[in-house]
Amino acid sequence: MKILKEDIKPLFSEEEIQLRVKEVAREIDLYYKDEEVYVICVLKGSVMFTVDLVKSLTVPIKMEFIRLSSYGSSTTTTGKVHAVDISLPDLNDKHVLVIEDIVDTGLTAKFLLDFINNNFHTKTTKFCSLLDKKCFRRTEIEPDYVGFNIDNKFVIGYGLDYDGQFRNMPYIGYVEIE
Ligand code: 5GP
Repeated sequence: MKILKEDIKPLFSEEEIQLRVKEVAREIDLYYKDEEVYVICVLKGSVMFTVDLVKSLTVPIKMEFIRLSSYGSSTTTTGKVHAVDISLPDLNDKHVLVIEDIVDTGLTAKFLLDFINNNFHTKTTKFCSLLDKKCFRRTEIEPDYVGFNIDNKFVIGYGLDYDGQFRNMPYIGYVEIE
């Protein structure tokens, strides 16, 4: 499938996103108070969200980046999560906050949260997702912090891609899936 810019319908504007990111940051600040948090950005999709979110946080943070993948050049998950780079520092006794762009089946989040919990005894492990698409959930995973809930749409922009394109759109749009 080829997606053209004119096929993309607006869903959340840049202003709506920026406002909501600040609200989520306030919720996160309240939870951690002044304790240090290891923020784990799941590349590539959550890069824009993570960058904006951490700029609004007032708690002390350290940033880590990992790379996972479950989509190829399509609009549906392959169902198999692929760890491209999952090197992490010692997270024992740390507060860990995983940042995703979108939870769909929940397989990616489950893979990562299981990996963290099987390898470290963290102080807390929380999960924040910009978007929550519950209609195809295949795990019991629920994010602790959510930007927006969406229904069955394939979304792009603000970090989310289709076949590597459109990540730099400052707003979130969607395309109709046949
Ligand atoms: P899950 O493992 O929860 O099914 O999917 C998580 C990953 O699938 C996300 O991190 C994202 O990369 C991709 N994904 C799921 N839904 C969408 C969507 O609507 N648009 C885009 N661009 N990626 C999606």
